Amino acid sequence: MSESTSLRGGCLCGAITYEVDPPFARMIHCHCSRCRKGTGTGHATNLLIEPAQLHWRSGEQLISRFELPNTAAFGKWFCSRCGAPVPRLSRSGRAIVPAGSLDAAPPLLPSDHIFWSSRAEWGCPSGGLPTHEAYPPHW
Ligand SMILES: [Zn+2]
Ligand SMILES: [Zn+2]
Repeated sequence: MSESTSLRGGCLCGAITYEVDPPFARMIHCHCSRCRKGTGTGHATNLLIEPAQLHWRSGEQLISRFELPNTAAFGKWFCSRCGAPVPRLSRSGRAIVPAGSLDAAPPLLPSDHIFWSSRAEWGCPSGGLPTHEAYPPHW
């Protein structure tokens, strides 16, 4: 996969599709309790990009947007037909792409685990990647 190639993705039922443009600077595993609830899994794996890199190709009108009250930026966007997570524009000014919604592998691997101290006891091991209690200070 070339680092200059756009990636396509979409929801489970296929109604919502999108494309994201490179560069892809960061892909992370987040173990916070919100990501666990939001995904139903041990952690979320997300690609972090700029909003201008995200283009909806179909089904944008089917996106359900949930912004978690009393949080700075947490939310979840999902397909109103199949419930699958789709990329969201965060109130923090980033676009957050659920890595599992991509149709093909991105040209990078996850670099870090964040909110490691919140992880589920049954969660995946770190695999030797750096772990952080919250967001690393340089982010
Ligand atoms: Zn769907
Ligand atoms: Zn999280």
